[in-house]
Amino acid sequence: MPKCYLCPNDLTGENVSKEHILPNAIGGRLQSDKLLCRNCNSRFGEGIDGVLAKQLLPFSSMLQIKKQRGEAVDLKNLASKSGEKYNLVDGQKPELMNPKVDFKKEETGGTRVNITARNIKEMKQILAGVSRKYKINVDEMLTQIVEKSGYMREPIQMSFKIGGKDMERAVAKIAINYFIYNGGNPAEVEHTFPFIKGEMELPIVNPYLTEQNLIPHEEGEILHTVHLVGSPEKRQLFAYVQLFSCFSFVVSLSSNYSGSSISATYCINPLTGLTFNKNIIITPPDQLLYGKQCSDYNLVPIAQERLKRLFAIVDKRQSDQHINEKATEIVNAGFSGTPEGEIISKEDMEKLIEDLSVWFAEYLVSRNPESDEMFDGEKD
Ligand SMILES: [Zn+2]
Repeated sequence: MPKCYLCPNDLTGENVSKEHILPNAIGGRLQSDKLLCRNCNSRFGEGIDGVLAKQLLPFSSMLQIKKQRGEAVDLKNLASKSGEKYNLVDGQKPELMNPKVDFKKEETGGTRVNITARNIKEMKQILAGVSRKYKINVDEMLTQIVEKSGYMREPIQMSFKIGGKDMERAVAKIAINYFIYNGGNPAEVEHTFPFIKGEMELPIVNPYLTEQNLIPHEEGEILHTVHLVGSPEKRQLFAYVQLFSCFSFVVSLSSNYSGSSISATYCINPLTGLTFNKNIIITPPDQLLYGKQCSDYNLVPIAQERLKRLFAIVDKRQSDQHINEKATEIVNAGFSGTPEGEIISKEDMEKLIEDLSVWFAEYLVSRNPESDEMFDGEKD
C-alpha cells in the first residue's frame, strides 16, 4: 500500500490526494496520487509551494499562465516611476490601483472635487458618496464625465526576489516528487525529508547556470524542466530543475545512491501544457552534488542574460496579442456600418485606414518614449 513520503499516513480513502510534481500555480500539470497525503499536500502546497509560486508570480501572471482551475492572475501594487500605484490586470493591462478623489477649496468659495475612477460603475458609487456630503446632482455630474484610456507614458517598476530556504525546499520537493513518481524508493532520499519539512537546513539546492542553456530551446520557447539522473555506479542521485527556461538549480538528492539507474525528463511548456522529449546531458560540477553550497560562482551575467530573454519573450507575446486585439477591434468597428455581403464604401474605408494609422502611431510612440519626446520637441 502506498504511503505518504512525508508522514506515516497510508494513501487510502480520505487521505488520497493528487500532488502536482511541479506546482500547478506555475503551470505544472503532471500529478500523482502516490506521493503525499491530503494533509501534507495542503500543508506544503500552501507553505513552500506557495512561496515559490509567489516569487514566480510576475512571470506566471505576465505570461497569463492558467491554472487547471481558474484564470490568469493580476499583478498587484506596482509603482510607476512617479509613484502612482497600479495593478496589471491579467498580467498586462495597467489600471490605477485605487480611484482618486481630490477635494480642493476654491478661493472664490466652494469646493472643487476631482474624481478619477476606473470605470463608470465606480464613478457612480463615488459620486453617490460625495452627494451625501455635498448637495450635488449626480445625474448632472455624470454628464460631465470625460472617459480616457491610452498608453502609459512612464514605465511601471517591478522588483522580485527568487531565493531563500522555503523556495529551495519547494525546488527540492519537485525533485523528490519526480524521483518517487518514477518508481524511486523513498528510503534513498529519506535524509532530505526533515529539510522539506523545515526541521533542518541542508545545502542540497544550488543555482546552476551555464553559458549555454543545458536544455535545448526553440526560439521564443518557455519551458519548465525536471531532469533526474540516478547512477548506482557513481552512487549519485540528482535532479536538474529549470523554471521558465531561466531559473536553474541542481538538487543533490543522494551521494550514496544504491537504487537502479535512472535518466528521466519532464519538460512542459507551461503556456500550452504540451510536453516534450528533449535530449539532455547534464554533468554538474562535483561541489554541487556533494552539498557544498558555493557562492564563488560568477552567475550574475548569465542570470541577467536569461532574464533578458525571458522578458523579451513576455514582451513579444504581450505586444503581439495587443496588436491583434486592437486591430481586430478597429476593423470590426470600421465595418460595422456596412451590411453583410455589401462592399465597404470608399469613405468608410478611408476612415478605417485613418483610425488604424492613428492608433498604430500612438502605439509605436508608447513603445519608445524617447520618440515621444522627440515629437514633442518638434511641436514646440
Ligand atoms: Zn502526509
